[in-house]
Amino acid sequence: MVEVRNVHKRFGNLEVLKGINLTVDRGKIISIIGPSGSGKSTLLRSVNNLEVIDDGVILLDGVQVNRPDMKGMAFERHINHIRQNMGMVFQHFNLFPHMSTIDNVTLAPRKLKGMDKKAARELGMEQLERVGLAEKADVFPNWLSGGQKQRVAIARALAMKPKVMLFDEATSALDPELVEEVNQVMRSLADEHMTMLIVTHEMSFARDVSDWALFMDGGVVVEESAPDKLFSNPDQERTRNFLQKHL
Ligand code: ATP
Ligand code: MG
Repeated sequence: MVEVRNVHKRFGNLEVLKGINLTVDRGKIISIIGPSGSGKSTLLRSVNNLEVIDDGVILLDGVQVNRPDMKGMAFERHINHIRQNMGMVFQHFNLFPHMSTIDNVTLAPRKLKGMDKKAARELGMEQLERVGLAEKADVFPNWLSGGQKQRVAIARALAMKPKVMLFDEATSALDPELVEEVNQVMRSLADEHMTMLIVTHEMSFARDVSDWALFMDGGVVVEESAPDKLFSNPDQERTRNFLQKHL
């Protein structure tokens, strides 16, 4: 589904990704953990070309995402098509404050898929039901709690019927008591076999929910394994040190 092959990314002289490889198969959940600055967000942003990589290949369902050979409008069209298949959820939800919950959720399907208002509302209500917020359809984001806003952001990403969901620290800006409701939504997506790539600092959640886990440090994947092994019996000293500080 998603393949990352030998990806390198530099910001000026700083090489932030130094040859990353990973695969997310259909219906699988891969978690990435690692210290601040290790390149996790850069990697996730590279997957949908929010960062332009310097070397390597990223594939979605066998279609190359990064296309150094493509320019201008042709690349815009290509990348817009790719992004319609990837739902991304960030730490900060970036909902439009002047639009109701349902309008936030249905904006992309209306604009990008040309869906009419009635069909979009139906689709939007379905997605809001999935995250348990159907009753908030017509309120504005300012009336919602942080956890509810993040659940709306997830519904918004789901409304495009993506093939894969990318989560970058979806709960780390939330008050602790709001984390679980968002985790719950992510768990329910896992139960539906949504393909997911998750960056998180919540070790127990990552351990529970993932099929495979990666520890990144300094722009490389230091270690990867089944989560039970990575979190309880890692091979690498660096992984052990990190976990000791974060469990
Ligand atoms: P955190 O856990 O704090 O979110 P991270 O693992 O997500 O960290 P990244 O955000 O990917 O780390 O950053 C990796 C490195 O790249 C850091 O040293 C960061 O300062 C640098 N970096 C990220 N984005 C840029 C940018 N646009 N320009 C320059 N440097 C950047
Ligand atoms: Mg980050």
